Formats: sequence, C-alpha cells, structure tokens
Amino acid sequence: MRQQPMIRQTIVFAFLIASMLTFVAGAMAYVEQPVARQGVIDLRAVNWDEQQSVSLNGEWTFYWNQLQTPATIRERARSAQSSYKQVPSTWKDGATIHQSYPNHGYATYRLLLQLREEDVHKRFAIYMPSVATAYQLWINGELVEKNGVVGTSREQMVPKNYTKLIPFQSDRSQVELVVQVSNFVQRKGGLWESITLGPVEEIMLERDTKVLYESLIAGCLFLMGIYHFVLYLARKREKSGLYFSGMSIGISIRLLFLGETLAVRYFPQIPWEIGVKLEYLCASACMMFLALFVHSQYPLEFNRTIRNWLIKVGSVLVLFITITPAWIFTEAILIKEIYLVLCYCYVLYVYVHAVIRKRHGSLLNGFGLMLLFIASINEILFYANLSPFENGVAFSVLVFLFTQMINLSMAFARSFDHVERLSEELRKTNESLEQKVQQRTQALEGKNKELQMMQESRRRLLSNIAHELGTPLTSIQGFIKAMIDGVVKPNDPKYLSVIYEKTIYLHQIIKDLFELSKIESRQIRFHFQPIPLITYFHSLYEKHLLDMEKKDLHFVWELGSGMQPDDRLCIIADPLRVEQVVVNLLTNAQRYTPAGGTISLRIDSELGPDGTGRAFVEIRDTGLGIDSENLPFVFERFFKVSDARKARAGGGGGLGLTISKEIIQYHQGDIWVESTLGAGSTFSFSLPVKRMQTTTEPIEEGRVS
Ligand code: ADP
Repeated sequence: MRQQPMIRQTIVFAFLIASMLTFVAGAMAYVEQPVARQGVIDLRAVNWDEQQSVSLNGEWTFYWNQLQTPATIRERARSAQSSYKQVPSTWKDGATIHQSYPNHGYATYRLLLQLREEDVHKRFAIYMPSVATAYQLWINGELVEKNGVVGTSREQMVPKNYTKLIPFQSDRSQVELVVQVSNFVQRKGGLWESITLGPVEEIMLERDTKVLYESLIAGCLFLMGIYHFVLYLARKREKSGLYFSGMSIGISIRLLFLGETLAVRYFPQIPWEIGVKLEYLCASACMMFLALFVHSQYPLEFNRTIRNWLIKVGSVLVLFITITPAWIFTEAILIKEIYLVLCYCYVLYVYVHAVIRKRHGSLLNGFGLMLLFIASINEILFYANLSPFENGVAFSVLVFLFTQMINLSMAFARSFDHVERLSEELRKTNESLEQKVQQRTQALEGKNKELQMMQESRRRLLSNIAHELGTPLTSIQGFIKAMIDGVVKPNDPKYLSVIYEKTIYLHQIIKDLFELSKIESRQIRFHFQPIPLITYFHSLYEKHLLDMEKKDLHFVWELGSGMQPDDRLCIIADPLRVEQVVVNLLTNAQRYTPAGGTISLRIDSELGPDGTGRAFVEIRDTGLGIDSENLPFVFERFFKVSDARKARAGGGGGLGLTISKEIIQYHQGDIWVESTLGAGSTFSFSLPVKRMQTTTEPIEEGRVS
C-alpha cells in the first residue's frame, strides 16, 4: 500500500513527459500551409508525394444571400455582388478582417485551386467536414455532393450534418470549387471547419484514422461507462459508479455526433434536430455528473451548496434544450459555455485543494484534469490556426476519465481489502468467542459438578447430623422414659450421669459443627503472626507433659535432623488455632493409646536457599492404630472407626480431625496420617516456615507466606 503513491507519481511523470514529447514532435512536423487569397489558392508549390493533405483555408469568394451555381457565376461574373470570406469561420465571425453576416441566411462560396501541370488527372479527394447546416458542392462545374437541402428559408431547407469524402479528377490545372450553404436552424452558419484536399488515398487514410480514433475513444468510454453502471447496479449504495458511468456514456454519445459524426454516418435516418439536441444534452448532463462524481470523491473539498446549484442550473439547461428547437437553444450556447466553464473551474479548484490535502488519488485526478485543460486550450488554438494538433480533447477526456477510473478501482480495491480485513478480524473474534464460550461452559460444568457435590455432601451432612444428634437423644429419651415409667429409679446417679455425659457429648458435637461451619465459610478471622517454631511447639509439649504422665504415657519431645535448637525459624500462623490442632491430635493419641504406651511430638523442617520452606509437626503414638480400609476417611466429617473401639476408648463426635484439616489448609499447609493397626498411628502436618533476619520483621495479616 505504501508503494502506491510512488507508482502513481511515476505514471504521472511518464504521462507528462510523453505529452511534452508529442507536442514538440508535432510542432516540428508542422509545415507551412498554403493560404487562399482573394478566392484563389496556389497549390503549385505543394509536392503531393511529401505532403499528404492541404487545408483549403483563407479567403474564399463569397456571395451572401445568393445561391449561385458555376454557370450563373460565369454568366453574371461582373454583375454578381461578391466579397471574400475567411474559411473556416462562421458567417458572424471574422468581422475584423472581412464583413460580418448574420448566422441565419444562405450564401455561395467559390475557390479556385491552382495545381501543377503534372498533378492534372491526379486522383484527388476533398474532405468536407461539418458544414452548417446544408450544402451542395460543384467541382469544375459538376454537382458532385449534396448534404441536406439548401434553401432560402427555414421551411425550404433541410439540415444535415455529417462529414463526406468526395473524390475527383481534374482535367485542367485550375480547379473550381463552388459551395452553396444555407442555415436557418442553428446559431452557427457557413463553412466553419477546414475543408481538406489531398491525394484520394491519403485523404481516405486520414479519414479512416479519424474514424478509428473516434470509434476507439467512444467505444472505450462507453465500455467504461457500462462497466461502472453494472458495478453500481451490484452495489447501489456506492453512487460514484453511477455518476462515473453517466459521465462516460454521456461523453461517448456526444463524441458520436461530433468530428466524424459517426452516429449520423451509421444511422443517417437520425434527424439533424435530434442529433444536435443529444449533443447539447450530453454536454450539460456530463458536467452535472462530473460535479456529482467529484463531490462523491472529495466531499470535504467540494462545497455541497455549490454542487446543488450546479445541479439546479444544469437541470434548467437540460430542460431548456429538451423543450426548445435547435435554432433557439443553440443561440443560448453562451449560457451553456459559461455553465461548463464555471463547473470546470470549480472542479479544478477542488482538485487543487484535494492535492494540497494529499487526498487519495488526487494527484492522478489532477493530472487527468490538467491534460483536459491543456487539450481544451489546444482546441481553441487549433481553430485559430495556431496549433497543429486536432481533436486532442476526445483523447484527453479519455485519459481524464481513465485516471478517475483508476482511482475508483483503487477505492473499490481498498474497500475490498478493508472488508477482507474486517471479515478476518470477525472470524478471529468469533473463534476466540467460541473458545471463550467453551471455557465458560467448562467452568460452568465444573461449578455445576461442584454444586452437585456440595449438595450431596450437604445431604450427607444433614443425615449425619440427624444420626449423630439422634442417637444420644434417643438414649436420653429411653433413660428418662424408664424413669417416668418407674423401670429405674428417677434419682439413680448412675443413669443421671449417663444422661449428663450424653448431653455433654451433644453439646460437644454442636460446638464442633458450629466451629467447622464458621471455618469453612471463612467467618473466623485468623490472626497470623510469626511464631518461633521450636519455642512454640516445645511450650505446647511442656503444657501436656504432666497430663500424659498422669495417664501413664511416655511423652517424648524430638527434633528432626534438619533442626537446631537456636534456629530462628518462624511459622506464620495463628497460635491459638495451631494449638487447637495439636491439642486435638494429642487428645486422640492419648485416647487411643493404652497406658504404658509412648506418644512423641517431633518437629522438623525443610528450607530452600531463600530461607523459606516447610515445617513438619509429627504426633506419633504406639496405640491401637487404624486399619488401612478406614485410613483414607479419618479426616471426613463424623468419621469414627468403630463403635466397639469407641466404647473402649471413649471417642468424640468424629469432627476433630475435620476441623484440624480445615485449620491447616487455611494456613496453606497439609495434614496426613500413617498408621498400622495394633502398632500405632502418626499424624503429621506441615506449615510454611521461613528463617527470620530479625524477630520484628513485619507480617501482613491474613498472609501466611
Ligand atoms: P473423634 O472426636 O471421634 O476422635 P476425630 O475426627 O478426632 O473424631 O477422629 C476420627 C476417628 O479417627 C476417631 O473416631 C478414631 O477412630 C480415629 N482416630 C483418630 N486419632 C486416632 C489415633 N491416634 N489412633 C487411632 N485412631 C485414631
């Protein structure tokens, strides 16, 4: 994309250089032409082998308001009122050199051609261009061509206007041309375009070249127009295609009625009036389309109000041309020309602005318009006989429209690129959306499973609670009923103490449940603080030593191999909660270890090079142990190994280990058990630990590591 301006600049320079070279070459090839003086043109200096054609320009003998024939001219040679008239020029033009006449009227032109003797009997041809608006031609006294019907009033004449090629052979060196012309139907009258003479093959070649050139340009313009019209039909929102096609087709139709008047040549039945109307209509309509098109290309540079005014004035012109006859609307040509020039100047101004503001393609457009401008000036110079180049406007129009087409196509290509990019982005977004949906669905499914599991565990919990609370309640009920029924004595201390123990048990379960639910729902706030590892656990050991000894149990304090008594290791923990865990584990060990057994409290640690790691606390007993079937479930709620054993050891409600596990996990630690039935159990837990530089190092509350 970044290379585009470079390519465009190269094209622009190539065009500029090519046009300059063509101009210079043309000017060099421009040969001095013979000019008619006082009704005679001397062609004896012309070498027809070198020069292909000669324009019969200059002073023709002129009989105003007289329809003379070669015969009448000879008869009344002296009496006929004649003057000289510049050809090419309209009757009204040329007032500075010769007399000026009204454009409506009739007249006879006469020119004598002086040929070299060796050119006598040579096959020549005269090329008659557009003559306004009917004529008949005599060569050496013989009527050789008619175009329309010459008459002395609008009613008597029939206008016709298309180019003709008239071959002839002269048997003398002086050739007489007599042309009768009449015009009552349009603004211009007379021989207003150059008549050309040359060897018949050359003139035919010149004409064929012109026909080919004009057909090619008209064809190209027409195709460009149709192409963009079809594009517009496919995408009606993009109006620039419609304006462009209107402009191209309009210009191509107009071209068919100008120059070689190809339309009339191939369809002679087209009335002259319709042809002129179409030509004028196309010119005005094209300008309107140009205004609309340029506005659509550069909406910021093209003032909307001016555009609307140009369209309004153009529409009035179109209406005027449509409803009035040619002899009226051709008179209003000045208004049309002013309109076209204004339009043109404003478009030029817009392009200059667009180039200054570096709008897309403005340089190429500006170049096309500049070429058209140069060609228009050249056309004026050509008709003033100051430039050798004929008919450059058609070509420059083609170049101009071609530059527009390149821009339009580039704009289309850009739009497609943009759409492609957007589609790609959309596709990617869709893909990532799908991925997101999948992820969310998976997350939702996970949550759903979690919810189902929670539901299930809640259900189990409720049934456990019902069972755990129901069993002691039933036995309390049974004892009280037995007392009421008189089966046992109401104040029997044995039964009363059983009832009392059951209520203590119930109270314990309710208390544990309450605590567990608070820990699980994080309602209990933990107060984390650095606790010196060895000192803290040793103080717990000392606290329980007496109690153990009372129960005839050996209580041993052990330090692991990775520990030294002066280690400045600290766990970051809530001391009360960790104590709760240790007490629970020690109580269980006491409960399930017969008298004479050994219980040990062992501390160890593993540290990384950064001074952080884990502390391990181990409570080992030589008690009953747990069989491997039950071992995986000891941390579950309400899990108790067996009623018989419990009866022997006097267990709790099966919530102690669950609470311990929750507390340790809250500290980002782990808890686990190893046990052999009959040999004893080892309950261990780990906690994050770090070596402190100073004991007063600040700790974020709620954070363990
Ligand atoms: P309880 O309050 O009933 O002791 P716990 O959750 O503390 O509940 O323990 C769950 C079960 O794990 C106990 O019922 C007991 O059977 C078993 N248990 C716990 N600690 C030991 C131990 N040190 N030795 C043998 N069994 C144990």
